[in-house]
Amino acid sequence: MLRPILKYGAPTLHEAAAPVTAFTPDVDRLIDDMIETLYAAPGIGLAAPQVGVPLRIFVVDLSIGRDPSALIVMVNPEFVSREGLQLEEEGCLSAPGFNATVVRPTRAVVRGLDRHGQPQEREGTELLARAFQHEIDHLDGQLFIDRLRGIKRDLIVRKIKKLTRAGKW
Ligand SMILES: [Zn+2]
Repeated sequence: MLRPILKYGAPTLHEAAAPVTAFTPDVDRLIDDMIETLYAAPGIGLAAPQVGVPLRIFVVDLSIGRDPSALIVMVNPEFVSREGLQLEEEGCLSAPGFNATVVRPTRAVVRGLDRHGQPQEREGTELLARAFQHEIDHLDGQLFIDRLRGIKRDLIVRKIKKLTRAGKW
């Protein structure tokens, strides 16, 4: 089932999410829905708070559904290591129409559980490292916009407020 994607300003997006403590049918359904919603968007990553559920789950698929082995479902993720710095333009399904250059690691190793509750560790470089950091930020209540500084951030926030007032956000 497709779930609506919350946009910047929705409270769930700006709060830290809680760890998953039980792999219930609800959690299983949520993960299926997140994958379906990600592919429909389409996007390369989606975190549970983006569909209004404050749990520490994200899905990433750089192939956007073309390669089944590219799908990563990560529950209760944490960084094992992060190295390097990359500066690339980035967007977010929760901030449609906005892009900005954000500093991210070039390599990241993430440890967590898979959708069956089994431990897993995944290494990402380049775009995948960027996606890991972007999604874990979501679980900590941070959007890429919150990583920006000064006028760049103010400009986007002001535009979003304007769109919100106009009922277009
Ligand atoms: Zn995002």
